[in-house]
Amino acid sequence: MNRQWRGLGTATAERTGTRHHALTLDGVTREYRPGAVALHPIHLAVPRGRFLAVMGPPGCGKSTLLRCAAGLDRPTAGTVRIGGTELPPLNAAALTRLRRERIGFVFQEHHLVPSLSVAENVSLPLVLGGHSVDGRDLRALTAVGLGDWGGTMPHELSGGQCQRVAIARALVTSPDIVFADEPTGALGPAAAEEVLTLLRQAVDRDGHTVVMVTHDPFAAARADEALFLMRGKLVWRQERPEAADIRRVLKDLDGRTP
Ligand code: ADP
Ligand code: MG
Repeated sequence: MNRQWRGLGTATAERTGTRHHALTLDGVTREYRPGAVALHPIHLAVPRGRFLAVMGPPGCGKSTLLRCAAGLDRPTAGTVRIGGTELPPLNAAALTRLRRERIGFVFQEHHLVPSLSVAENVSLPLVLGGHSVDGRDLRALTAVGLGDWGGTMPHELSGGQCQRVAIARALVTSPDIVFADEPTGALGPAAAEEVLTLLRQAVDRDGHTVVMVTHDPFAAARADEALFLMRGKLVWRQERPEAADIRRVLKDLDGRTP
């Protein structure tokens, strides 16, 4: 295949800031210390209903990108919009509300509250937001195949089941976007496959938007598009990625010197 490097920094003309996009990043930069730039200006627009995988070698800035996009960290420069709304400053009450109601999170660890039942864990984002649950916990649990498990405690579940509960919790508010950082990283192959199938289904059946960080080419191959980061820059993107293509790109990136 004829491969061409495509610069995806400031040169990429993405339409930003519209409600048609679940997420837009406009010049998002993150410098942890003077001279320690984890993200160079990133321009990215993620349309609603898309499953995007973010890949790249360890330390290339994947988690930083996700944390800035999700309002868990503040970019040094640039703006982030979720569903057309610019993220307010960190620590503002408006940001907490926006995160709780319009963003879903799935991490490598499920972070379920051990003292709450499965249904209570799933309801938590609604309850914390002052909303009535209205059977949404059960619908979200049914969507991940755990409709009968609401009364169970997390310690009675397998790791894969816990991660499915975490997905139900992420989807229960019908957020604009779900961010998943290595959601299959702590799972065996069968449970990982289930999690990826659920994320794919959330996009295809329910129109959700998912941005997933992964180092696994097979996981990324389930996405509509894969983005590759290297040293804090977006250096490659591929629509309808296949695992073999992804492995080749990762190998190419590995061999590239600055
Ligand atoms: P990845 O998720 O791709 O492994 P990260 O986003 O975690 O990469 O890190 C990108 C770079 O930023 C790395 O060089 C890392 O050491 C640095 N970094 C990440 N978090 C911090 C932090 N809180 N303080 C200082 N440097 C950090
Ligand atoms: Mg990371």
